Formats: sequence, C-alpha cells, structure tokens
Amino acid sequence: MAERLAIDGGTPVLQRSDYGNWPVIGPDDRRLVNEVLDSGIVAGGTAPQVTALEREWAAYVGSQYCLTTTSGTAALHMALAALGVGPGDEVITSAFTFLASASCALHQNAIPVFVDIDPRTYTMDPAGLEAAITERTKVIIPVHIQGIPADMEAILAIARRRGVFVVEDACQAHGALYQGRKVGSLGDIGTFSLNNFKNLCGGEGGLFTTDNEDYLNKGALIRCFGDEVDEVSRRRVYNASILGYMYRNQELPAALARAQLLHLDEHNAVRIANAEYLSRGLGAIPGIIPPHCPADRRHVYFMYNVRFDPAAAGVEAEPRLFRIAVEKALYREGVLVGQWQTMPVPAQDLFQSKLGYGGSSYPWRVNEARGIHYDYRVEQFPVAQMLCDTYTIVHGVHAPNGVALMDRILAAFHKVFGNLGQALAHADDAVYPGADGKLYGAA
Ligand SMILES: *Cc1c(COP(=O)(O)O)cnc(C)c1O
Repeated sequence: MAERLAIDGGTPVLQRSDYGNWPVIGPDDRRLVNEVLDSGIVAGGTAPQVTALEREWAAYVGSQYCLTTTSGTAALHMALAALGVGPGDEVITSAFTFLASASCALHQNAIPVFVDIDPRTYTMDPAGLEAAITERTKVIIPVHIQGIPADMEAILAIARRRGVFVVEDACQAHGALYQGRKVGSLGDIGTFSLNNFKNLCGGEGGLFTTDNEDYLNKGALIRCFGDEVDEVSRRRVYNASILGYMYRNQELPAALARAQLLHLDEHNAVRIANAEYLSRGLGAIPGIIPPHCPADRRHVYFMYNVRFDPAAAGVEAEPRLFRIAVEKALYREGVLVGQWQTMPVPAQDLFQSKLGYGGSSYPWRVNEARGIHYDYRVEQFPVAQMLCDTYTIVHGVHAPNGVALMDRILAAFHKVFGNLGQALAHADDAVYPGADGKLYGAA
C-alpha cells in the first residue's frame, strides 16, 4: 500500500532533533581546555599543549615526527614546500577530493594534475596515475577520501619506480588503516586536518607527520616565516633563511584535539558500526550502492557515501535526476542527506579559467610559455563525474548517534524507495538538500 511521502504532504520519519552533535564534548575536553586557561600560556611554537599533541599524534600514527599547523591546507602546503616543490613542477592528485589537495600546488607555484578515481573506492586510480606522470612530476598526493585509504601499495610502487615523492592527504581519515598501518605514516609526509567536521577535531588546525628529520626541520622553518632558531638558546634570530609562512597552531585547539584523541578510536568504532549497519540495510534495497571497503583497509567513515542506480531500482530515469529526486524526498523525510563535492575538482572555475595569482595565468604560464599545455576537460574524469552525478552523503554516522538513529534512517530509505513514483513526481520541487554544512540546523 502506498504511503504518503513527506515531500507529498505526509509525516516525516525523522526530526532534526533526532541527530546528536559532532564533535562530542565531554569531561576530557573541559579538563584539557581548562588546563590551558589555568596555565596562562595560550600560544607558542613549543608551548606545552602543541608539543604534547605533536608527540601523541606521532605515536598514534606510528610516525617519528609531527608538527601542528593552522589547518590541513597549511599542512599540505608546508609538505610541498618542505619537499622543495617549485615553479613548473607538477603535483598529481585525485579528481574527487577537496580543493586544498590541488590548491596547495598552486600556492607553491606548481601545477596540479588530476587523475580519475577507482569506481568502487573513489580513491585515486593507480593506472591513471602512471599515465599522468611526466618528467616534471615532483609529488603525488593520494587522498584517503571520506575515510577510506587510497591504494597505497600500488601508488607507492609507482612513486618509488618513478622517483616521485608521496604526500598523503589524510585530512578525512584519522585512524584509518592500510594493510594494518595507519594512514599518514605511509608516504614521505602525511597531512591531517583538525577542523570541526573531521574525525579528530580541534576546532581548526592541522598535523604534518614524517619519519624524515630533514622534512621535519624544513617544515618547522617554513611553519614560522623561514626564521632560523639559535641552536643553543632555541631563540628565533629573526633571520629568514628560506621563504616561509605563518602556520603555527595555538594551545586551545591543541588541547581540544588532545582530549578528542583520547576518544578517537572509540568514536571511529561508532562510525564503523553505524556505517556497517546502514550498509547491511541499504544494500538490501535494489538501486542503492553502499560504500565498498577492500579487506586490506579500515574505512573510518568521515562521510558515509551511497550511490543510486535507477535501473536497478526498477525505474526509468536519468541517473542524476533520480539522485536529486531521492535526495529531496529523503531530506523531506528528515534524513540529513546531500552532496559534498558537486563536481570533480578540475571542473571548478579556477581550473577551467586557469586564472591564478592576481587574475593572471600564473602559475600555469610558467610551463605553458614553454609549450606544455594543461587541459582540465572534465571528460577526462568520467568516473569522478559519474560519482558526482549519483552519490549523496548520509550524515549522522558519527557518535553519539547509534543504531536507533540508523533504524530511523533506514525506515526513511525504505519509505522513499517503496514510493519512487511519488519521489520522482517531485524531482523539480524547490528543495535544495545538502550542498554543504549549511543544511545543519536549517528549517
Ligand atoms: C578538510 C580537508 C582539507 C583541508 O583541511 P582544513 O583544515 O580545512 O584546511 C584538505 N583535504 C581534504 C581532503 C579535506 O577534507
């Protein structure tokens, strides 16, 4: 019997108030943040919380060294600078990622090159990577997207063979495992974000991990204006030996991140349990494709991604239109769904126009003046485009949410997929679910 969907005037399955907040704040957060306030020390490159976070994160990831930064974006830029990337160098990353995986190259006057993704894990396709390497390639940035590790064995083998550095963008994958090892410890440098959405939250901030003492020292210089530090007194001598930036973090975000780190494994376990529960339920509904994680990896579900296939659902509809119709109907049922990236990164205006510094054609011009052309035609990334047409994020797999919420979400999916005709009839309704975090708290 047909049920009335909320988008057709029926009663929604869920309320916004059914969702718990991320990050989860508890006594450890209050204790460590108060420690900062009681100490009177709020900042400093070697201040106690920052230093402790660096020690604790290096130990957690299994890297020798760690530096805190102002953001994940800063950690990525610092990594390229520490590896000596410069004008005309090429940096290869994934076509399905956040902009910062590519803009870090531009910020170092290098040129981003994109590789399409694997259709099951949505991470960088190693075959495409091999084809994209040139004699100008300096760094590969695999992205552990939405919490799933990239195919590091294949990527590292290509990088070693071709003499190219690997910087892991692990900004979405704190605690994820690849063949039993934590991401961020596998490449030359690992980078993490501590922004408020991420699995490990400091409010804002970032982390840079490495086993290489030279990259550590170079990173530390770059993080603080390139200013040299006196070896005996440890004082800054206000003599910049290289070009640097101001990427130091501060004590309050570091203290919050340390407190959150005490609960990272526990919170990741909640994400994994919720995601696996959802996948079992959603995988039984024809037309829904839950996320896939190969057996040699641990996905930590920063985002829970599902794709839709109208043919498998038994309806004739254009895939993109079908996804939008289902998203709208689910959203009206009270399920927080919506897209994160809406297009492959190279499709963004910045790459289509190739207008960089001051609206000029730099840094692309550096190589284009030598007859090397950069082409960001989106047709080169058919898998990333297919994904962007057909996926949505199901929010709320994070703690403190549990099976009770997952059951309501599943009920809403069953309701919508049991009444697809109604959902499709409202495909053109003016409902705009989830381009970004703005939907949280929206009416
Ligand atoms: C969040 C994120 C970043 C940037 O991190 P910020 O701390 O927000 O600067 C970089 N890459 C990816 C894949 C991210 O998700």
